[in-house]
Amino acid sequence: MNTFHLSGYPRIGAKRELKFAVEAFWKGAKSEAELQETAAEIRRLNWAAQKAAGADLLPVGDFSFYDHVLDLLCTLGAIPKRFGFDPANLSLPEYFQLARGNATQFAMEMTKWFDTNYHYIVPEWHADTEFKVNAKNLIAQIKEAKAQGHDIKPTLVGPVTLLWLGKAKDDNFKRISLLPKLLPAYAQLLRELAAEGVDWIQIDEPILSADADANWIKAVETAYQEFAHTGVRIIIGTYFASVAEHLNLLKALPVHGVHIDCVRAPEQLSVFADAWPQNKVLSVGLIDGRNVWRANLSKVIDTLKPVQEKLGNNLWIAPSCSLLHSPQDLAVEEKLDAEIKNWMAFAAQKLVELGVVKQALAHGKDSVKEAIAASDAAAADRATNKKIHNDAVKARVANLPEGADQRKSPFAERIKAQQAWMNLPVLPTTTIGSFPQTTEIRQARAAFKKGELSAADYDAAMKKEIAYCVEVQEKLELDVPVHGEAERNDMVEYFGEQLAGYCFTQFGWVQSYGSRCVKPPIIFGDVSRPEPMTVYWSAYAQTLTKRPMKGMLTGPVTMFKWSFVRDDIPLSAVAKQIALALNDEVLDLEKAGIKVIQIDEPAIREAMPLKKAQWDEYLAWACEAFRLSSTGAEDSTQIHTHMCYSEFNDILPAIASMDADVITIETSRSDMELLTAFGDFKYPNDIGPGVYDIHSPRVPTAAEVEKLLRKAMEVVPVERLWVNPDCGLKTRGWQETTEQLEVMMDVTKKLRAELSQTK
Ligand code: GLN
Ligand code: ZN
Repeated sequence: MNTFHLSGYPRIGAKRELKFAVEAFWKGAKSEAELQETAAEIRRLNWAAQKAAGADLLPVGDFSFYDHVLDLLCTLGAIPKRFGFDPANLSLPEYFQLARGNATQFAMEMTKWFDTNYHYIVPEWHADTEFKVNAKNLIAQIKEAKAQGHDIKPTLVGPVTLLWLGKAKDDNFKRISLLPKLLPAYAQLLRELAAEGVDWIQIDEPILSADADANWIKAVETAYQEFAHTGVRIIIGTYFASVAEHLNLLKALPVHGVHIDCVRAPEQLSVFADAWPQNKVLSVGLIDGRNVWRANLSKVIDTLKPVQEKLGNNLWIAPSCSLLHSPQDLAVEEKLDAEIKNWMAFAAQKLVELGVVKQALAHGKDSVKEAIAASDAAAADRATNKKIHNDAVKARVANLPEGADQRKSPFAERIKAQQAWMNLPVLPTTTIGSFPQTTEIRQARAAFKKGELSAADYDAAMKKEIAYCVEVQEKLELDVPVHGEAERNDMVEYFGEQLAGYCFTQFGWVQSYGSRCVKPPIIFGDVSRPEPMTVYWSAYAQTLTKRPMKGMLTGPVTMFKWSFVRDDIPLSAVAKQIALALNDEVLDLEKAGIKVIQIDEPAIREAMPLKKAQWDEYLAWACEAFRLSSTGAEDSTQIHTHMCYSEFNDILPAIASMDADVITIETSRSDMELLTAFGDFKYPNDIGPGVYDIHSPRVPTAAEVEKLLRKAMEVVPVERLWVNPDCGLKTRGWQETTEQLEVMMDVTKKLRAELSQTK
């Protein structure tokens, strides 16, 4: 039989039990014992579901109270010294303090795991970082699984990826220099697991899928040479992109197998299948671990059959990556359209699919006839169903004329037409869109959704918020005000709810970080806009002020990146459809007198493929989609965009090619380093570098803001420069927001006065 295994499963519980238990523990409402009980129950149910589906090797170590990278740091005794904790006796409250900070120490940083929306805790590496294994938590879970009668395969992040993903916290110190200290500790950990009777272990080295430098790839070789005699059999896990370029390295390593992701990189399957040694395991991931769609089982089986003929039982089957990134169980959804539901598979259903594949490989397709017929029927339905396929949308994309993505005139002419009516002062001021989302706003939205608040009362409540928001901006004399986004739950969901082709689940949660979960919208079909989405609120806001009200939209890349996306057409096609739907909105806003329109693209950087070789192709269509969304707008209409959360230095030409009239961008946290890059590159259009960090309630001093703004004036021509915060203000309170903006305005006015003197 071909081994069916997996490296991880959703750990928050089908109804987010872990989230609620952890948060209750933080509040003191649950004891540690109660929390441990909830955790053990989640593990028990997860393993039972995997076993019931026919899994042969169940994961251990995929469970975590906060983050599995942090857990590994604890297991290796490599927690930051600054907390003053004893790594050998770390308590659960101390563990949470590492992740969340305490009275004297800020939290460890977190960042997104490759191109997923999962955030891991970033290791802090110092020249004097020491490693000392303390595997008691992991071993306890191994014993727990075994006591429940399971065959297991612990899964850990590999040492090289772990080092690589951390940050060097000392000057003149390279992360990789810790390798000689880390490897013996890691080997010790493997030996301790072997002593526990662990036979197989999966060690994930996704660094192999990224474009890491040669010295890092060399480190992989060094590491696994060193682990050759630890007494466990190692399968190296890779995912999210091809590792075909490392085929020879992987073949030569003294490990027992490798797992490859053949959903994200199907082309690597034949490379591996042709050359893989028969005495080593090749695990093939053909069931998508990070999306919500049912697999085409016939195709999967047909693809695997020849590999099975070559490798026999050394072909293993698994999801493409850990199921951590997938929602847990479709069965609990009560409100999804039955047809759409039939096209989907969450983690629990993916297990069943793998069970079917395993069965078919062992006993032929006929042994699982019914399951295959159901899968075939779903695939056939998806190919033609009118809920997905909208001929008008397809035709519109297909018939876009040459140059459809270009504005009417170049920037130099547009900006004149804009300045002619906008009459903005030098250093114009604006914000990024959202203002504080107060409890009252959230309650009003929730009550309206539940039917407890009438449409008229909801309308009045939102208008009151908008009016207040505009009034505050009037008092501050912000040049380009916004309506504040009070009516929006989330910048993607708000639009997704109004676009055809999107649907929503009740319980499709995935862990984002710690106890925080997100429920991404699902793009299942061709996207179009039945009705205007924002015109009503923006037009109302415009009646309250003579200043040009800025309309706010979420851009095409961000709209798909923070959703689950259909896998039956290329992403570029999805992006174009969304762009055209947004374009309808842009033109309607314009008609309604909203002639400044911001199209946010905070996700443009994180949607980049892992491999640099694929960047240009991605950026070409991503930037085209952005341009398409504002196509047809008058020269006098000013298009803004906004970006944050990422480093943009290496994609400046692409950002320029988006041709927004104004870009506002997060810079203050990096002390305007990014801005220097914009200056060196000579970014052609207007730019508003954030002059203060909105992630903190702290009100910046005038001196701080002035320093940043003067720095900006050194690198950006003053007539191109805008003044604004770093990002949206929705997470802040009104008090601090007003004070922060007052400082920003005072400094701006001071510099304006100075500039008018020198003229
Ligand atoms: N317009 C959005 C806001 O202000 C932008 C959010 C973001 O950049 N992520 O909230
Ligand atoms: Zn932002």
